[in-house]
Amino acid sequence: MNLKSNQTPSAVERIGVLGGGQLGRMMGLAGIPLGFRFVFLDPSADACAGSTGELLQAEFSDEEAARQLGSTVDVATFDFENVPESSARALQEAGTLYPAPNALGAGQDRAMENELLTSLGISVPPYHLVSSRTDLLEGLELLGYPAVLKTRRLGYDGKGQAILRDPEDRERAWQKLGESDLVLEAFIPFEAECSLFAVRGLDGEIRTWPLTRNVHSNGILKLSLPGVFDESLQAKATARMHAMLEHFDYTGVLTIEFFLFKGELLVNEFAPRVHNSGHWTIDGACCSQFENHLRAIAGLPLGETEMTARSLMFNWIGEMPDRQRALAIPGLHWHDYGKAPRPGRKIGHATLTADSMETLETNAVRLAEIAGGEFPALLRTLFD
Ligand code: AMP
Repeated sequence: MNLKSNQTPSAVERIGVLGGGQLGRMMGLAGIPLGFRFVFLDPSADACAGSTGELLQAEFSDEEAARQLGSTVDVATFDFENVPESSARALQEAGTLYPAPNALGAGQDRAMENELLTSLGISVPPYHLVSSRTDLLEGLELLGYPAVLKTRRLGYDGKGQAILRDPEDRERAWQKLGESDLVLEAFIPFEAECSLFAVRGLDGEIRTWPLTRNVHSNGILKLSLPGVFDESLQAKATARMHAMLEHFDYTGVLTIEFFLFKGELLVNEFAPRVHNSGHWTIDGACCSQFENHLRAIAGLPLGETEMTARSLMFNWIGEMPDRQRALAIPGLHWHDYGKAPRPGRKIGHATLTADSMETLETNAVRLAEIAGGEFPALLRTLFD
């Protein structure tokens, strides 16, 4: 047990969170009924987690502020993975931080991430490190077209990426990304994308939610549907998850994103935190990813991770559909993050729950029609 020496796990009352976005807010919403109080560190005065706790307004790189946060809470965590490692370490010197910064560092650099995964015997898409035009040419010769060029650091939701379909795309991709350290990956024509989230407690107990199928468009998650893969795939994903959790001696929720390709799992990336594709667990699992993350870092017993209903999550990017019409659908759970709408910004989600796949599909078709845009077509990729 590495909580502060004068503390028993049940003594945790105040929880600090580096980051005050929607993930922090959903931690707050899950933690208040457990008796926790929250302090969020975020540079923005209107960070949306602020409505569920105190807001300490400071830059993420402000080590003094991180130290202050660490010294005024019983335990701290983070809601995004690009927390500067120096701030995470400063916080840890002043208090207790879970997950520990080792997982944070490894996940911030795609090259280190791939190296680590490979060393643990976990398959990733073939890749080549690129820091010059010559490296890029070399990589393309090795991997062929199409390929995906990605920045090693600070990429998310498809940002910092370019697909190279033929040699003509090479210079354009280099102009766009060439100033950063890069990694070139083979483009994987996957059958499906999926993610696994699991929680590991302070005592080493691990619980895993059902593998979740995800549909992305333009690099951003749009739909998540859990519980549709067979047991052998779940077991393979779970084995990889256990290897990583044990490697990091991890505490809290860890997420791994996979490509399902030729029946095998390749890891796209991992995130040392709760994840967008796990939002369905709020309404469709015994214990949500947010509650279990908090239980884990506070040293409390973990909750059950089984599905309580068939679930499907829709992600609202840039705009929310008509609430009046959406709420008329049975089993609709609405989540508005209280963020100002902007193109490309995650501002809310909805989870549909139902007691059968048939009902879920019927209601999902209704919601997709109300949401409009690409939702009806994206939904067909799940149900056709
Ligand atoms: P990322 O930000 O790396 O998670 O990428 C966002 C999305 O881009 C993924 O969820 C995939 O849909 C797509 N993508 C990323 N890398 C690859 C790849 N090597 N092959 C095929 N699709 C990819």
